[in-house]
Amino acid sequence: MEFLNLIETYEDEIIRSTQELIGIKSVEGLAVESMPFGEGPYKALKYATNLANKMGFKVKEFDGYAAHGDLGEGEESVGILVHLDVVPEGDGWDYDPYGGEIHDGRIYGRGAIDDKGPAIAALYAMKALKESGVKLEKKIRIIFGTNEETGWGCMKHYFHVEAPPTMAFTPDADFPAIYGEKGIIIFNLEMDIDIKGSGNIRLIDIKGGSAPNMVPDYCEAKVEVGNPQEFKNIYNDFIDRYGYPIDIDWNDALVTISAKGVSSHGSTPEKGKNAISYLMKFLGEIFDKDTCFGEFVEIYNERIGFFHHGEKIGCGFKDDISGKLNFNPGIIEMKDGKIRLTVNVRYPIHSSASQVYEGIRDNLKDTNIRLIEGKSDQRPLYVSKDNFLVKKLMDVYRDETGDKSSEPITIGGGTYARAMDNAVAFGPMFPGQPDVAHQKNEYISIEHLMKITRIYARALYELAK
Ligand SMILES: [Zn+2]
Repeated sequence: MEFLNLIETYEDEIIRSTQELIGIKSVEGLAVESMPFGEGPYKALKYATNLANKMGFKVKEFDGYAAHGDLGEGEESVGILVHLDVVPEGDGWDYDPYGGEIHDGRIYGRGAIDDKGPAIAALYAMKALKESGVKLEKKIRIIFGTNEETGWGCMKHYFHVEAPPTMAFTPDADFPAIYGEKGIIIFNLEMDIDIKGSGNIRLIDIKGGSAPNMVPDYCEAKVEVGNPQEFKNIYNDFIDRYGYPIDIDWNDALVTISAKGVSSHGSTPEKGKNAISYLMKFLGEIFDKDTCFGEFVEIYNERIGFFHHGEKIGCGFKDDISGKLNFNPGIIEMKDGKIRLTVNVRYPIHSSASQVYEGIRDNLKDTNIRLIEGKSDQRPLYVSKDNFLVKKLMDVYRDETGDKSSEPITIGGGTYARAMDNAVAFGPMFPGQPDVAHQKNEYISIEHLMKITRIYARALYELAK
């Protein structure tokens, strides 16, 4: 396969393109004319379409929402769906999150693994097929989206206008091939609060987290304290007992209490350390549960904090194919006299959004907390393991990696695969690799980047030949 040799000669270009794309801060911003998700995602889209153009693919743009690039002709087509937007960088980076710096053979930056590195790998995989002149029966189409992390407005628009490919894969999750994805909902748990506080403690503000689909790595509360000595004693005793990373900062009677966690993807809350949960645990020590904020804190600690599968709040569903539900409290804020907790839930393939909502409502019925349903429900995805696409992808994966024992899997993450029929996620993470998506110090190693370029080139070839 001549195209695999070509890929080796592209290494410098692949690295440079990945660095350049990381350099564009493509976090969703305010919509402006022709830039429906703000300037960053739009610039990333321009970068990718320019590169696709230079490689000689037939590029078509869709009003700033999405674009595609075609290689070859054919009634049938093989799609590869990538996204160019990223989640916010968060805190605590050792390197510039938009610098694309290389250290120890790794390219660092927000989007390196999710999903800019894989997007570049896919483009160069297509370039290798093109320049090798290998004969293909089907058209290959790379589809670029710019709103995967937040609202999927890109794919909604794209598939409204354009027919889907006959089959597709998306390099935005794990190897080997993913034949099932859990359903995804985002909703709020709200409670009106009256800021009278409890005894000599008053809540002034609380905020934490930056996206529902990330485990928050920071949360802080500002409280007014009537009895500083008593507060200090409670704090010291708490730190002695739990050792949580919680700091206090005094400014007269106003205390800022801050908790540091470890971020992770919202589909794997158990892999992170939730800063909101740390902080709430401490607030449980200082707020009297008979007060209204105290009630919220108590319910949080008893039914939400550190229970990653909804098991204490009425939605602990699970099934044999996709496992347990994932429950991620991603953002907390105080606004307009309300405490609002934004939660991201991934429910198993055999359950539904309405079951989750019913379960939680029933669980909270004796409390003052209300559930406000989210607008969207990304239904679960399920493709048979015997499907042509899954089988071919598994063959390529086994052959390229030598890993003959891994079987197709299911995940809690939601990928573009569910934007159309007959699509699955395929890579880029190998089994056992640490998951750095949505975390500080996100990276892709150059070796990894080159390896996935080979795998994607072979996969496209096998599906399109
Ligand atoms: Zn992604």
